[in-house]
Amino acid sequence: MTAQIIDGKALSAKVKAGLKVEAAALHAKYGRAPGIAVVRVGEDPASKVYVTSKEKTAIELGFASSHHHLSDTVTQAELLALVAKLNADDTVDGILVQLPLPKHIDSTLVLETIDPAKDVDGFHAVNAGHLFQGRPTLVACTPFGVMRMLEEIGFNVAGKNCCVIGRSNIVGRPMAMLLLNASATVTICHSKSDVAAEVRRADVVIAAVGVSKLVKGEWIKPGAIVIDVGMNRGADGKLSGDVEFETAKERAAWITPVPGGVGPMTIAMLMSNTLLAAKARLGR
Ligand code: NAP
Repeated sequence: MTAQIIDGKALSAKVKAGLKVEAAALHAKYGRAPGIAVVRVGEDPASKVYVTSKEKTAIELGFASSHHHLSDTVTQAELLALVAKLNADDTVDGILVQLPLPKHIDSTLVLETIDPAKDVDGFHAVNAGHLFQGRPTLVACTPFGVMRMLEEIGFNVAGKNCCVIGRSNIVGRPMAMLLLNASATVTICHSKSDVAAEVRRADVVIAAVGVSKLVKGEWIKPGAIVIDVGMNRGADGKLSGDVEFETAKERAAWITPVPGGVGPMTIAMLMSNTLLAAKARLGR
């Protein structure tokens, strides 16, 4: 069996086309577009690429986008003051503080200062707590995008064994909660787990580790669905996932490529969250 490819680029284009129409309708009704404010600190090259791409997408969709670039010598108090200002700005529906922040800044404190109603990354404890309790509000974008991919291929996770590899607050944990809320039987693996044993019995494997090709193709249960969140930059500059793609695709029913899989979905879901936040704030 050779797996069918879940094309994240094509699906994100479809999601974004829908958002563009909705954003225009919101603008027509309320006289303003959904607004996103992106905060970047310092000169991390990857952060610059991510922020540029988020801004470009926001503009493409007709959103209002503002970019706040601060030097890496900014104090914590100055950054918190900017977040407070954006919290108070009625034209801003979504606030995104690009991680990582410099070491002298307490990232958790910064993220917790964002108004939960504007937390379009879904990282605030209030939003994470709502997801945990099964009444999601703004959900972390990457796992949200994975759920959208599963929906697109018409796969219902209810009662299926789903193995999430990774337990970070931004991917693994919210991913596991979304699957649980959709009635999957969820296993969460981490660095102390027997990953091979858990993957072998999984109907759905979601790898969010950050170790290139950690998941071997021979571990994949024939007919399983494989979602690769990993984005690992090799010495040759090429991106690879956490799954051994070439061998896994010979066993899986569906698989996501890297690049062109989960990555493009994350930005689309960020925009979807911004539109949701705008609608909620405008009382729609
Ligand atoms: P992270 O915070 O570093 O978490 C990695 C997780 O993997 C941890 O829970 C860790 O376990 C686990 N782990 C590490 N080595 C392992 C091993 N050998 N076996 C099993 N588990 C292991 O990473 P993250 O932020 O969640 O990101 C994970 C990957 O997804 C990265 O490649 C990142 O670039 C990518 N990513 C992609 C997108 C996208 O849009 N496509 C978005 C976000 C992240 P412990 O908890 O035990 O340490």
